[in-house]
Order: sequence, then structure tokens, then C-alpha cells
Amino acid sequence: MTSVIIPRSEHTVSRQNIHPDALKVMYRLVRKGFTAYLVGGSVRDLILGRTPKDFDVSTNATPSQIKKIFQNCFLIGRRFRLAHIRFDDQIIETSTFRRCPDQDEENGGDDLYQFRDNCYGTPEEDALRRDFTINGLFYEVERFTIIDHVGGLSDIQNRLIRCIGDPNIRFREDPVRMIRAVRFASRLDFHIEPATYNAILRHHEEILKASPPRIFEELQKLFAFAAGEKAFRLLYKTGLLHVLLPEIADFLDHDHGQDSVLWTWLEHLDERIRTVGKVEPVLVFAALFTAPVRHVAERYETAGERVVYNALLADLLPPICTRMSMPKWMSTRMIQIMANQSRFEPDKKKRFSKRGFVAQDCFPETLALYQLGLLVAGEDLGPAEIWGSLRSEVEAETPQFVRGEVRTEQGRPPRKRPPRRRRR
Ligand code: ATP
Ligand code: MG
Repeated sequence: MTSVIIPRSEHTVSRQNIHPDALKVMYRLVRKGFTAYLVGGSVRDLILGRTPKDFDVSTNATPSQIKKIFQNCFLIGRRFRLAHIRFDDQIIETSTFRRCPDQDEENGGDDLYQFRDNCYGTPEEDALRRDFTINGLFYEVERFTIIDHVGGLSDIQNRLIRCIGDPNIRFREDPVRMIRAVRFASRLDFHIEPATYNAILRHHEEILKASPPRIFEELQKLFAFAAGEKAFRLLYKTGLLHVLLPEIADFLDHDHGQDSVLWTWLEHLDERIRTVGKVEPVLVFAALFTAPVRHVAERYETAGERVVYNALLADLLPPICTRMSMPKWMSTRMIQIMANQSRFEPDKKKRFSKRGFVAQDCFPETLALYQLGLLVAGEDLGPAEIWGSLRSEVEAETPQFVRGEVRTEQGRPPRKRPPRRRRR
């Protein structure tokens, strides 16, 4: 692949769309005699006219050189040192150009799975170690040029996700890249080019070699940008879902595959994300599991067995959540909001406090799941609105009763401070 430099007159990326803090970092590095580029997803998004989520910089300055230049710099990472340059409202991640470690530098060469990623390299090597051509572009602030070592610009123009290098090798080096391919294809509405797609079909089972927490993080990202339905259809089509979440793939196989009700759940979830603007992970996974669990319940019932739905939830879901490395607080909350659904049509014979129910900390997600269920069933949202009003009423009357006003971004209730150690 020949490297190409695209002058300012031939591309649409304007400095005005680059965060001033990222510009500050690059200009300061350049003034000190280093090379510094804007890299990765931000260049891709700027070319596409989208607003980048974050701005990453790569440079030939080493982490300790970066630290000397920026007072607000913190070095992180043990395997590969990265500089986090902190500003008021964001962090500019600044990394030193690196290359893929040679195979014999790793673990004997047989197993391609990457354990180390800590060799510095040239800018070109840094582009070549990245996952997809669309993520391998550099923007350079001195002459406002785009530097393309990987053919990324034409792939952006043709809306293609293509591995840099041989996809059969790149996916075995780091199987999480297969989920990333699905993420970018669905989020950007791109196609995965045939060689990359076929490599996913061939190597999808290798995803089991990746660390579960990393996979879990990537799965959550599939729902950002309201692209969850598309992403899960692609996971299912490529076979990745059969390895990642066999229970859900199994359900789809039994529930008309690409015409399953699960897609209606995910469509409405995407719609909610589009309107509300954010995604509560607990709700995402509850929406994902509701139809499959109901299906199991129906199967028992058809076989003439009595099923206690909440007992089934408590039976089926914890092992799946543990396997996928879902944090315990999240799985507990997810199961609770799923179990809570029966309370919207309470058993008249049992005592039940509606006000106590709506005052629950997890009521907002419980109600959101109920709303999704009504939408999936094509029913009127009136009942959900009545419950919502009751919640507002209770909140207004007894604000201290409704806990969880202070929440972390993921919806996790704030941690209690550990008790102070007494000095001896
Ligand atoms: P997003 O907008 O979702 O943040 P992104 O492209 O910035 O997308 P990140 O996960 O933030 O994705 O990663 C930043 C960059 O690091 C990517 O654009 C890519 O160049 C590189 N990268 C990330 N993960 C990998 C990987 N597993 N293998 C190779 N390169 C990677
Ligand atoms: Mg990013």
C-alpha cells in the first residue's frame, strides 16, 4: 500500500471541528519539535461529517517526554504507557507511535493471540497496527493534511469496513476486532468488505479467546448510536452470536430467525435511545433477555409444567451474566426490573403497595422496560403513563423516599463510603 498525503484543498476536515484542547496538545508537541497527529475514530468521524466522541493524538514523543511538556498529564497503563492530558471537560489521550510486536517477540509464534502491545514504532507502523482502514488515518495540524498509509479514505468514500492487513491474521491476533467490525458497520451503516466478512465467518469461534470483560464492554457499545438492532442482526448472521450468547441465538433459531420478535424489541430500544439520547445498560440487557426467557416459560407451559416466571429468571440468567462478566450490581438490577414486570398487573388477592412499588430505586428502568413491552405488543401506552404520573407524585411528596437521585452514568447507585479506619 502506497502512502498518500491529501492536501487541505482536497479534503473536508476543518480545524474548526477539532476540539481546541486536542489542537492545543498537538500544537504544543509540534512546537517542542515532535510530530503529532490526530488519529483513529476522530479523523474518520470528521471526514464523515460526524461529531467525534473523543479526540486521540499520536506522537513520536515518549510518555515521559509528554509528561515533561504537560503539567496536566497523567501516565496510565502498565503494558503500554499512555498519556492522559486532562482538561476541564475532557481528556486527550496521547499515545506514542507503536507497531505490532513481531511474532517471535511474543509467545513462540504459534498462537497469534496478542499478549503484548508495547513496541514503539514509526507513524506508518502505527497506522498498520490499527484495526480497520477507516480507523487508520492521520490528520496533521501544521499543513492541515490527511495522511493515509492504509487506503482508509477510499474505504470511507465507498462505505467499507476492511481490515488492515490479512483479516485471517488480524482477527486471530485480537478476536474482539470481529465485534468492532460489526459495531462500525452498524453504527456507520457501512458494509463489511467480502474478505473481512469471510474471515469473521471462518474465525467467529475464536471470540471465546478474548477476555469476557472486554467482550462485555464491546457488546454494550453496540447499542450506542441507536444501532443495536442492526448490530445484533449482524452478530446473528455471522455466527458470532451463537458463540457469544448461545441462549439468544437458540431462541432466534426457534423464533423465525430474522423475523423474530426480538428484533421488534431492539427496534423500540433503538428508538428510545434516539429520543432519550442515552442507553441504560441494565435496560438494554433486560430488553435483550425478555423474549428468550418468556419463550422458555412458554415451552414449559406447553409441556404442561407450572412455571413461576420469577424463579425461572433467577435460574436462567445469573449463570449467563456471570459468563459474560456482567457486574453483579448490574445483573441483580436487571433481574429485578424483569421480575418487577408482573407488578404492573398485580394479583388482586395479594396486598400490594403501588406507592411502595413506584418509589423503588429501579422503578425508572422497570417502567422503561414495561413501556418497551407495550410497544412490542402494539398496545396502548396509557397504563405506563399512569404509572409514570404516580411516580412523579410520590417523588414530589417524599423526595427523600425515592433514593438513587445521585447516580453514576451507568445507572449504578452511588457507592457507600467505606468506614474510616481509626488511627491507633
Ligand atoms: P469510537 O468513536 O467508538 O470511540 P474509535 O475508532 O475511536 O471509535 P476506540 O475503541 O476509541 O475506537 O479506539 C481508538 C482507535 O484505536 C481506533 O480508531 C483504532 O485505530 C485503534 N484500535 C482500537 N481497538 C483496536 C484493536 N482492537 N486493534 C487495533 N486497533 C485498535
Ligand atoms: Mg474513540
